Amino acid sequence: MTDKLILSDDEWQKRLTPEEYAVLRHHGTERPWVGCFVGTKDPGTYVCAGCGNPLFRAGEKFESGTGWPSFTRPVAADALTERVDRTLGMSRTEVLCARCDGHLGHVFPDGPAPTGLRYCINSVSMRHVPDGYALPLVTA
Ligand code: FE
Repeated sequence: MTDKLILSDDEWQKRLTPEEYAVLRHHGTERPWVGCFVGTKDPGTYVCAGCGNPLFRAGEKFESGTGWPSFTRPVAADALTERVDRTLGMSRTEVLCARCDGHLGHVFPDGPAPTGLRYCINSVSMRHVPDGYALPLVTA
């Protein structure tokens, strides 16, 4: 991963759409089945909508039936950070972009082989980059 991208809350609000800002910077969750990457199978890489950090490869996307894009593993071990999320009366593992600390979703231990993990990610937190295109890394 490249250097961290640290921006003020005001700067994030200027750069992101209201939907991106609510999810990435304030831990929002998009409604199930409405995200733009539900059911898509296009080859390529999913990058952070906030900073462009590569997060997931399309080949590791699977149909979880949950209504959110789901992946079995990140593109690299250092692409994501995790932390315990005890909101909503549950203990879940929150997944954040390791570069900009943007909220992406959660990871659950009920995914398919080989990892057994299900990364349940908001579509609005990601952009899809087709294979052969440069990854748009955002800088301060
Ligand atoms: Fe990011």
